[in-house]
Amino acid sequence: MPPPDLPAPPSEKTPSMLSRKFGPELHNYFAGNPLNRVSFLRPDHVFLDAALRHKSTQFLLFHNMGPLTESPKKIQFVQWDDVGRIVDPGDGGPFQKSEDDDIKEYDSGKWSPTIVFLGLDRRTEKEQDVFTYKNRYKGTPYFALDLSAPAAFIDKAKTSALTDAVKKLIEKYESENLEFVGNRMNLFLEPQEAAIYAEARHTIDWNVRNPFCAQCGNRTLSTHAGWKRACPPADTATNTERPSCATRQGISNLSFPRTDAVIIVAIVSADGQKMLLGRSKRFPPGMYSTLAGFLEPGEALEEAVRREVWEESGVAVSRVVFHSSQPWPYPANLMMGAIAQAAPGEDEREPDLDHDAELESAKWFTLEEIREALKGTAWAEKGLGASDPIGGESKPDIPLKVPPRTAIAHQLMAAVASGGFIGGESKI
Ligand SMILES: [Zn+2]
Repeated sequence: MPPPDLPAPPSEKTPSMLSRKFGPELHNYFAGNPLNRVSFLRPDHVFLDAALRHKSTQFLLFHNMGPLTESPKKIQFVQWDDVGRIVDPGDGGPFQKSEDDDIKEYDSGKWSPTIVFLGLDRRTEKEQDVFTYKNRYKGTPYFALDLSAPAAFIDKAKTSALTDAVKKLIEKYESENLEFVGNRMNLFLEPQEAAIYAEARHTIDWNVRNPFCAQCGNRTLSTHAGWKRACPPADTATNTERPSCATRQGISNLSFPRTDAVIIVAIVSADGQKMLLGRSKRFPPGMYSTLAGFLEPGEALEEAVRREVWEESGVAVSRVVFHSSQPWPYPANLMMGAIAQAAPGEDEREPDLDHDAELESAKWFTLEEIREALKGTAWAEKGLGASDPIGGESKPDIPLKVPPRTAIAHQLMAAVASGGFIGGESKI
């Protein structure tokens, strides 16, 4: 199964001085979201409740971080008829009251599935009978809904009508041959669905991983349609006031979803004829990729590129330029793609792997070798997450394999190998 195409960037539709100078903008896989997030409406419970119950509304379901799919290429969105009795089991639903009231009436003993408002679909905003709010905000509403109950709520003592209803719904989907695809990267979805999935997965995952306040350790409450977590001052389950918590003071009232910046970089030799790639122990045999690492506090992107490349390969880097980015929802990364040039002479000696044991190997490849590897070999068609064995030795007779086009690493290599980037023109 070949990997899907990349989403078309919006800048292609309008002429632009910057596009003429630098070439078209690249949207990597998982970007290109067709939803208007209308983030300013997240505290508006009247809007959210109306959007939730509209007949066109689409729900993207998760269970154990896997999305409900009908095939590896297609997400199965479902409607209110399926999930209504879970989202609103008779208590008015998650958006019946204002956020302030939800926080005041917080009950740590009550579980309801995490729900995230994803946005309004721009593709349907001109359709008749489309969901409309204040005669201004239009489009099919999209929500993500996590059917996984936290461990504290699924032991037998706490089995409730709601957990039973969730269990039955999961069984119904399984009987219809639909599948919650967990523990796998979903890199074969149509690009716009992939972008909706990335937004949903990242935000659900953040909610799942942050059930407690980082300041005082008490359980938190998902608010703002799933985009913030509050530390309520009292708990009706125990009828007690909680100790004071710094997160309730001023603007640091709540915690927000994280997006952790990662630099990923194609290193070109000073003469522009070779590229430095590295190989992790976890890669399938023959596979090499661009170098990458987390940005650290107090570090510019360019500095992170120079530090990571030197730590992993001993190579000194001169000029660094930004190329494109990729929102990578496993779990919360923004890959900041760069192209950088090594200092003169750096490609004439063996890379030094002794600083940091992260890479098994780092090597300079000619651009011709990289062009061959990018050509859409059988490996590229299988893509990341395919069933190739992980690990194993990198034998010299195995041809170079590189990540598929859905990975930003592939796009960085292609930008260099196509020649435009380093051939004297300034096209990125
Ligand atoms: Zn707290």
